[in-house]
Amino acid sequence: MLFTSPEGGGAMPLVLDLAKYILCSNKTEDGNYCNDCNSCNSVDRLTHPDLFLTFPVFNKDSKKKYTCNDFIIPYREFINNNPYAPATAWIQSLTSENKQGNISAEECKSISSKMMLKSILGGAKILIVWYAEYLGKDGNRLLKLIEEPPKNTFILFVAENTNKILGTILSRTQHYKLLPISNQEIENKLIAQNIDAEKANELAKQSEGNVYKALQLANQKDQNYFNHLRNWLNALYTNNGVLLSSWLKESNAMGKEELKSFFHYAEHIFEQSLRVMNLPEDYWSITQVETRLIKGLISKGLQATNCENASSKCAQAAYHLERNVYKKVMLHAISFEVQEALLSK
Ligand SMILES: [Zn+2]
Repeated sequence: MLFTSPEGGGAMPLVLDLAKYILCSNKTEDGNYCNDCNSCNSVDRLTHPDLFLTFPVFNKDSKKKYTCNDFIIPYREFINNNPYAPATAWIQSLTSENKQGNISAEECKSISSKMMLKSILGGAKILIVWYAEYLGKDGNRLLKLIEEPPKNTFILFVAENTNKILGTILSRTQHYKLLPISNQEIENKLIAQNIDAEKANELAKQSEGNVYKALQLANQKDQNYFNHLRNWLNALYTNNGVLLSSWLKESNAMGKEELKSFFHYAEHIFEQSLRVMNLPEDYWSITQVETRLIKGLISKGLQATNCENASSKCAQAAYHLERNVYKKVMLHAISFEVQEALLSK
């Protein structure tokens, strides 16, 4: 079976779900996977012994012919974090050089012989070929396997563009073309990842059905907000007028919605600071750089009341922006209020 979706679409997540369903050893009465058995768990981690993954790789050097086996550990991590990612992002995650990936003759040989072996757990065997476009003419080595797969063996191809798939393979598959993912679905997905509703709506529109792009944009914005917050705190803590005036200038150039998101972000960081002070690490939802920033503030004497006050000031700032305040004045005022909230003993 061949599943296609546009870049950032749902083909790979769907295929992984299908693999989980096929391999589940304890299917529910209403015909779904149980999400609890060893098989389900190991498909989630992409470590199921009867689940084979083929994907584009490149030769790191000329010493040997590389196959997917050489890349399986980073690939599992990559797909677990980015099931919607395009193949180019996977290759870029491995190297900064401009490498072209492919699914090599070596890989086709290795996968054909592996698929001929008996299943390890005694059930079905599944081969997922991620980005079938990367199968060059060496892909013809797979034809026999595709035509006459061993009993209880499923071969699932994932692709974006059928024009780039070998005709010999295309004609031997059953093709399922997925619809693009709607803005509403992307928005819900972003909200489920703790991105605030307005921002999620804006990002969903910008990403045009590409979930990977939407998530990348969300991370990028967070990175920008983080830098902006760090600069602000730096100016406030050191009482540095030059730094503060450049922060004010940058903030003034930001749109209203963006500034609102920034203050919500700052609010989130101050709330998380309280967690860092009072709760074990499992309860924090912050990145490593955010953790470093917060720990730095705590070492400078930040206390719970400071966090509570600064957080409520930032919430107020977001609220005032909604009411069409004069941005420039508000930014000055909030800077001094937050400075006071943070530094008071
Ligand atoms: Zn299960």
